[in-house]
Amino acid sequence: MELKHITVAGSGVLGSQIAFQTAFFGYNVTVYDINEQALSAAKERFQHLVSVYGEYFSDITHAQQAFDSLQYSADLAEAVKDADLVIEAVPEVVEIKQDFYTKLASVAPEKTIFASNSSTMLPSQFAQFTGRPEKFLALHFANEIWKNNVAEIMGHAGTDAKYADIVEAFARSIKMIPFRLYKEQAGYILNSLLVPFLDAALGLWANGVAEPQAIDKNWMISTGAPRGPFAIFDIIGMTTPYNLQLAKAERGVPCAKEIAEKIKTEYIDQGKLGAATGEGFYKY
Ligand code: NAD
Repeated sequence: MELKHITVAGSGVLGSQIAFQTAFFGYNVTVYDINEQALSAAKERFQHLVSVYGEYFSDITHAQQAFDSLQYSADLAEAVKDADLVIEAVPEVVEIKQDFYTKLASVAPEKTIFASNSSTMLPSQFAQFTGRPEKFLALHFANEIWKNNVAEIMGHAGTDAKYADIVEAFARSIKMIPFRLYKEQAGYILNSLLVPFLDAALGLWANGVAEPQAIDKNWMISTGAPRGPFAIFDIIGMTTPYNLQLAKAERGVPCAKEIAEKIKTEYIDQGKLGAATGEGFYKY
């Protein structure tokens, strides 16, 4: 099955990047969002991506052509009427995604494959709403997809492997490096490794075992990694680990509250939010 028409639903941070990357590598792309206001915000994102892609791939003309080729619609039926593949990048809220798949199922052609870009939810949570569980799976991208070009492909138990093969080939055709997961796994491969690693680093720091710089240096020298966990936090920004620790504290995880408090008082309250603000665990 050759894919030609791709619809990207949700044109925020990730949806806009997925749509642009897909258009840049030659597909007919339709961008769907809830209203004209959201679509005009998306156009501004795409305008910015013209310069990002123009510079990164040294081809501003091609980036402009990708921009010019994008189609927009705030009408779901219209947006998916020819779609071979719909990539869903709507907000990470269960009810919004459920509602989206229910509506999508009622208007999409039978041939259409559905792929979710959800970072934290599993395809099995939504399969029953798609009306085509065998053609539904996750296709997960990383932020700044033109350079962090990993695509994780993960079905649920009822996904037909034939469609995962098609989506894998699609991912490769838009210059992603695809990674296939053979079972559902919360956090995919990357976050299954990264989250416990970052948690362990925070634990060492909050328990007074060692300073962040020493923890990073030990990791880097011992493994040859280019950066350690605290340098990674500086890239992510402090609010994400803070919110994650707060959520863990609410679930009763020991020490999480203390870790959240330490991040808040020593970094967030002092405006040290990470690399983007010039200082986090390191100065930039
Ligand atoms: P975002 O808030 O930037 O964008 C969401 C977009 O969806 C907005 O344009 C919004 O108008 C639109 N939207 C809202 N309700 C909708 C609906 N019912 N139908 C269609 N569109 C709707 O969110 P984001 O950061 O781009 O995240 C979107 C998805 O991508 C989430 O599932 C998230 O887990 C995943 N993701 C995000 C990142 C990231 O770094 N931001 C990385 C990987 C995956």
